[in-house]
Amino acid sequence: MSKHYDLIAIGGGSGGLSVVERAARYGARCALIESGRLGGTCVNVGCVPKKVMWYAAHLAHALDDAPGYGFRLDYFDFDWRKLQHARDGFVRGINDWYQGYLKDAGVDLIRGFARFVDDRTLDVAGERFSAGQIAIATGGRPRIPEIPGAGFGITSDGFFELDACPPRTAIAGGGYIAVELAGVLHTLGSEVTLLVRKDQVLGGFDAAIREQLMERLRADGINVLTQTQIRAVARLANGSLKLHCDGQTELVNVDQVLWAIGRLPNTDQLDLAAAKVAVNPDGTIPTDAYQTTNVAHIHALGDITERFHLTPVAIAAGRRLADRLFGQQPERHLPYENIPSVVFSHPPIGAIGLTEEEARARHGDAVRVYQTRFRPMYHAFTARPTETLMKLVCVGPEEKIIGCHLIGEGVDEMLQGFAVAIRMGATKRDFDDTVALHPTSAEELVTMR
Ligand code: NDP
Repeated sequence: MSKHYDLIAIGGGSGGLSVVERAARYGARCALIESGRLGGTCVNVGCVPKKVMWYAAHLAHALDDAPGYGFRLDYFDFDWRKLQHARDGFVRGINDWYQGYLKDAGVDLIRGFARFVDDRTLDVAGERFSAGQIAIATGGRPRIPEIPGAGFGITSDGFFELDACPPRTAIAGGGYIAVELAGVLHTLGSEVTLLVRKDQVLGGFDAAIREQLMERLRADGINVLTQTQIRAVARLANGSLKLHCDGQTELVNVDQVLWAIGRLPNTDQLDLAAAKVAVNPDGTIPTDAYQTTNVAHIHALGDITERFHLTPVAIAAGRRLADRLFGQQPERHLPYENIPSVVFSHPPIGAIGLTEEEARARHGDAVRVYQTRFRPMYHAFTARPTETLMKLVCVGPEEKIIGCHLIGEGVDEMLQGFAVAIRMGATKRDFDDTVALHPTSAEELVTMR
């Protein structure tokens, strides 16, 4: 006999937690199946511990900048182990908090690994559970290349296990994780080489942002090698690693290699075929605009789907799915336009909407671009002449803003409010008519000519 629920979510990360919590509020009988720690990638090996490390790097930069403001810092030291301990304690606190959150919401937590028996039934270590609706939200895992010696390297998961800053690190990849961890490791004391297989980092971002970041990475002292891919890794007798790359390029005396070359969806062990759920060749699950798979009562959320692998996207999609299934809002779903995102590089990047290139491909000459690049006042007194770049992409005679691309100090906190305005259909005139806040960097967004 199986235990029956209105909704079962598989995976206790952002997507799974959000859908059961919201559905339970509507009175649905819900269960969540998770084999590991609650909170998923974001809480355990992603956004949360990463942001802690980013704050540490941000502080290290502030210490570098302080003499420009008259401070004399004769000596300071950094204790990686102390930070690691505090960070891991913080994460465990969130894990525990989620246990209470599910209990308070009246959601059953089933511990173990779920496999489909059929389209309504799941097996968890020999026990059967069935549900009227099932949401798959099992997330992803870092990809490791299939090359000789790949096992000598670590991934972002391994980064969070490091108990010291590696003296020399090579990072493969040019996406979010590669540039974020390159910045953190470099700032906290590692000599970092970033190996990017194309010409630039952050494919998909506006060209102006990508160029500015490349400039900044290099000016900060990160060794960025473009058009370079690692083909083999070998451990030398002295314990260091040697990397064989394309052509004749070799990197020696590397202490740590970090693979940041994308992530794989965790769909391969769910026995999806038993439920007849279609899967893309790359392992992601295709869904319609309502997060529903080819099976009408099976849904997919977050990193196992094809779109935007971002925590707030999984949460928003999960809540809307619950609204639709149990909250009598039949049209409720997450539209995938104007999703803002931030890259925690140094300085950070914020972006929403179309890049200039995408806008021109879609709207041709109707596109007008405003761009400014300036040295923020903060850096007038520092030895790091970090510039800020802001770009607005507008369309049509009313100059509706369809893209906003930012890189610079504070843009990570700046973008959220502008994202609201852009989502509401703001025009350049709306920005211009907004009284500036002075002196800030954000005011440049409402004074651009
Ligand atoms: P991304 O998809 O962002 O980047 C993968 C990178 O790896 C690309 O630069 C890609 O290069 C490169 N690459 C792929 N295959 C190879 C290969 N064989 N050899 C060398 N390079 C390769 O993946 P990430 O793993 O960085 O992050 C996964 C996702 O997690 C992100 O897309 C993002 O959605 C999310 N994330 C969000 C964060 C945030 O919101 N701040 C932070 C971290 C992750 P190419 O451009 O040539 O294809």
